[in-house]
Amino acid sequence: MKFLCDHMLGTLAKWLRFLGYDTAYPDELEDDDVKAMAAREGRTLLTRDRELSARVPGAFFVASDDPDEQLLTVVKAFHLNADDALSRCSVCNVLIEAVPKEQAKGRVPDGVYARQGDFWRCRQCGRFYWQGSHFGGVLAKVRAVTAKANASP
Ligand SMILES: [Zn+2]
Repeated sequence: MKFLCDHMLGTLAKWLRFLGYDTAYPDELEDDDVKAMAAREGRTLLTRDRELSARVPGAFFVASDDPDEQLLTVVKAFHLNADDALSRCSVCNVLIEAVPKEQAKGRVPDGVYARQGDFWRCRQCGRFYWQGSHFGGVLAKVRAVTAKANASP
């Protein structure tokens, strides 16, 4: 399942990436270009534009303007799960890869380097990831959202 978020859904795009889903979030495009990109890359369009959603096959109209509500709606509609949570760079949308700890030396805060054993790196932007407190918070949120989505009718 791959997504394309239109330009008003940046926060939703970030959270879908946290969940592990391949989610494109291009700069503002003309409607025809959005449609072409969704078709070319096999992505499901998520949009706040009802008219556009009607014109693009398989597109999903996101009614709410609240990011938490948007995420819940999409997780529910597409039965998403958190199995691959935090496997993807939330900025670049590419998979992150585990790297030897030494590679993180001098590239992450000293305290983090001292405390953490495992590091991941984004191939594209070079950003390092580790299982810090932010990681725990993100994981708790995505698990709560998927549990809530699957529990309610
Ligand atoms: Zn990145």
